[in-house]
Amino acid sequence: MARILIVEDEAALSDLVRSHLEKEGHAVDQAFDGNQALACADRTRPDVVILDWMLPGLDGLTVCRELRRKHLMPILMLTARGDVADRVTGLQVGADDYLGKPFSIVELAARVASLLRRVALDRAAATTDSSQPITFGPLVLDPGGHRATLAGSSLDLSRREMDLLELLLQHPGRTFSRDFLVERLWGTDFDGLDRAVDTQMVRLRRKLGDVGACIETVWGVGYRFRPELRETT
Ligand code: CA
Repeated sequence: MARILIVEDEAALSDLVRSHLEKEGHAVDQAFDGNQALACADRTRPDVVILDWMLPGLDGLTVCRELRRKHLMPILMLTARGDVADRVTGLQVGADDYLGKPFSIVELAARVASLLRRVALDRAAATTDSSQPITFGPLVLDPGGHRATLAGSSLDLSRREMDLLELLLQHPGRTFSRDFLVERLWGTDFDGLDRAVDTQMVRLRRKLGDVGACIETVWGVGYRFRPELRETT
């Protein structure tokens, strides 16, 4: 069972989503405007937030940005706007996934389930000793020993490539923006180009062989590691 917050001002739609998710065994809270949403998230600490873009008062984007200041839970945005630029804006302020209206309730539930799996993986990663080796298919990363092997052969990775790989493997499914990666890999005083991250990523992917195909480019935003891309190919 997970705790899910639905932020949607159309009560009928909100109730429909709630009853479906409750049938799946989740605890569901409802907020009908942005301020209510922020207060509720602070109080109930939801595992996932379903957030409508068009809300009275604070709009969904502002709510998303505010939630991100304090919380790490995945946010699924609902929107009648299907424009690519809007999707990118949503992802930049910290939304994790997107669903255009009108949507099928079954698809919404599937997206929520996928975000919850990610929460479970993140928690598992956070509770395991970070110095323990991480294994993914033929790839073994030993953060403590600063070593990685692919199918038993040692991989020649720079320190930054190693840090990048560790970050991605420890947070499957999470989108990291180029800004975040620049700060993480070079520090805040780095005044180079975002392209430096792309260059780093190209090198890392090449060295990882078919595992590298699981590092997905999120258009206009950054990168994420999607283990399932390997399972399906
Ligand atoms: Ca609405």
